[in-house]
Amino acid sequence: MVELDLPPLILQQALQLLTLHFRYTVLHTNTIASKLYNLRCKFRCSNAHPQHTIENRIAKAHSTLMISSTYPGPPSMPRSVTLAKPKNKGKSYTTFLKPIVSAERLRQIRLKYPHAPLPPCGNVSSRLHAHFLLHYLSLCNNLYKPPPYLKMRGHRNPMSLLRLRSQSHQSIPTHMLTIADNKRDVYDSRVCLYCPSGVTGSEIQIILKCPATSHVAMDLIKLLRILLYDTCQPDWSTLTTHQQTSLILGDLPSTLPKTFHHVWLQSTLPAILDYVSHLETFLYNMT
Ligand SMILES: [Zn+2]
Repeated sequence: MVELDLPPLILQQALQLLTLHFRYTVLHTNTIASKLYNLRCKFRCSNAHPQHTIENRIAKAHSTLMISSTYPGPPSMPRSVTLAKPKNKGKSYTTFLKPIVSAERLRQIRLKYPHAPLPPCGNVSSRLHAHFLLHYLSLCNNLYKPPPYLKMRGHRNPMSLLRLRSQSHQSIPTHMLTIADNKRDVYDSRVCLYCPSGVTGSEIQIILKCPATSHVAMDLIKLLRILLYDTCQPDWSTLTTHQQTSLILGDLPSTLPKTFHHVWLQSTLPAILDYVSHLETFLYNMT
């Protein structure tokens, strides 16, 4: 799931194997397990050494996360880990690794879509691709921290927004997977229910373009226009429909300085959650 991006198992394991290496080479060097580990590391390159041993997996984890400069010796440590109290060092090292795992995950997602246009625009082929084009500019955070819109306390539950962002909302045609006669339908065949011409019913269509539903966003767009102006960001009308939709779904403008992030979220999130709730009610009443 890209939205709440849980890093894939292979990266999670790499993180755990690296922390194990840290424990054996830095934290608990006097234990029997550590001595055995160091001994076995020395024989790792011999032909007799089995493939799937913990030493080989740890070596592979180092190359997966591209931390291999000091392997098999103790890893080089950032200041935060060196200065941490002995009992906190392990935890501190894991905290240090998490952004590295996040960066690797984002690199992998970007590799999957190497021709991502900037600013995002164009047609999409799948739900994952749609999510990527809408939200990839905001995918630059530590994936182990929940996105801010889920953490901010407000008067409304952010679950509907999460459903919209994670491409799993019952009311958006492209989010609905249909299998008929054992055949998966294609993304483009999930059309807008309210347009006669068979336009793909993506969130961009429902939120911004569809004559039947786009008016629901007008108040929110008015607020976003003002905030963009107040924070010296590019005007609403110069943004692509992907960028406009991503702002409506709670992303920050990609050029917004970090000092304004919190204020932006605080000013927009209640209005965004209100909008999503109105849109849901509107769509449910129409069907
Ligand atoms: Zn429509």
